[in-house]
Amino acid sequence: MPARMSALDSAMSQLATAVEQLGLDDGLHELLATPRRSMQVAVPLRRDDGTMTVLAGYRVQHNLSRGPAKGGIRFHPHTDLDEVRALAMWMTWKCALIGIPYGGAKGGVACDPRLMSRNELERVTRRYASEIMPIIGPEKDIPAPDVGTDEQTMAWMMDTYSAHKGYTVTGVVTGKPVSVGGSLGRGGATSRGVMFATFSALREAGVDHRGATVAVQGFGKVGGLAAQYLHDAGCNVLAVSDWKGGVYNGKGLNPAALLKHLKTGADTVVGYPGTDTITNEELLELDVDILVPAALEGVLHEENADRIRARFIVEGANGPTTPDADAVLESKGVVVVPDILANSGGVAVSYFEWVQDLQAYFWSEDEVNDRLKVLMESAYDQVSGLAGERSVSLRTAAQMIGVGRVADAHRTRGLYP
Ligand code: NAD
Repeated sequence: MPARMSALDSAMSQLATAVEQLGLDDGLHELLATPRRSMQVAVPLRRDDGTMTVLAGYRVQHNLSRGPAKGGIRFHPHTDLDEVRALAMWMTWKCALIGIPYGGAKGGVACDPRLMSRNELERVTRRYASEIMPIIGPEKDIPAPDVGTDEQTMAWMMDTYSAHKGYTVTGVVTGKPVSVGGSLGRGGATSRGVMFATFSALREAGVDHRGATVAVQGFGKVGGLAAQYLHDAGCNVLAVSDWKGGVYNGKGLNPAALLKHLKTGADTVVGYPGTDTITNEELLELDVDILVPAALEGVLHEENADRIRARFIVEGANGPTTPDADAVLESKGVVVVPDILANSGGVAVSYFEWVQDLQAYFWSEDEVNDRLKVLMESAYDQVSGLAGERSVSLRTAAQMIGVGRVADAHRTRGLYP
């Protein structure tokens, strides 16, 4: 079996396509492909049983030409430097695409939060935060939640950073609880954005979203609420999944009830009453109108692309589709709303949170949601306009806009010395 493309290979290949379309020179291509700063740190952890283990932590700032770096922190056993580099690069294009003044970053710790106690998670978070402290800060690099981390993780990071500084610095991270400088609307922002992106794509194709069938891979922070918002708006969510597998009901699921089931102690959706158990692979290949991959990268690849039956793929996750799968899906006429557009609602409201923290003046939830809608619909229109003009896919158009804006910033700033 040929090796599947890694996230970094996918990101590099997408960049090369955008560079070619934009006619950028080799030097600029190399600059855009190279992370500005990569940090690897040792994160020693005292386990609850008294033993010690040393975990690997990372923070990569891919590009700083348009502003401070911005991007999530992932706690996952497979996290490594190459994955973090790919995710940081996607953040750069995403921030540029939606027009917010940040460069891209990403970070993570190679660990399995499902096997750790709350106290162990707190110790890992605080030690990791203190190790990367020299390169983060509200004007330097602002982390946020990603896979395996949440608003509590951000509260611990903010507290650790503030304790070192000697005063409270709410703007050092986003995705915090509202009680410590978080923004109303941040919790559901990525998922709300996925819904806006889905509706824009359906509207453009003349398809009514009401009654449209949906499958969501990854019932976490992004996928869980995306399923709920789509359901509440009239779509019919037939299947969702998590790390353990998926559940299916041909008449439709109730995502809010499933979320409640998880909140009250279940560690998986599998086994939920009134559903059939399916595998993650089966979920991806279901005959639905809309597929929302919202777990990890590389799940739609060369080997399964031909079996995908959804008409619309809206990428809640970062990098779920490899470039070779993209080519197959495009030839089948599947509309793929790319990650840097579809899941940009999270970083958009992170930006709103940072602005509110810096001003110490907070907005209403309606104001946050309204601004998010305007920003995402405008980004979708720009991407779809360019895709039509240049006869390229939505992904290539989105990358061209993001990469083009970063290239412009480099040209305008010039090279020092
Ligand atoms: P999360 O940890 O809250 O949820 C991840 C979900 O994926 C969980 O349901 C988990 O069980 C499931 N999962 C893990 N491994 C799996 C596997 N091998 N197969 C199937 N499911 C699996 O993470 P999240 O924050 O929802 O992030 C999901 C994706 O969205 C990631 O690609 C992330 O980078 C991207 N994203 C997140 C945000 C955000 O604001 N949290 C913003 C933009 C993009």
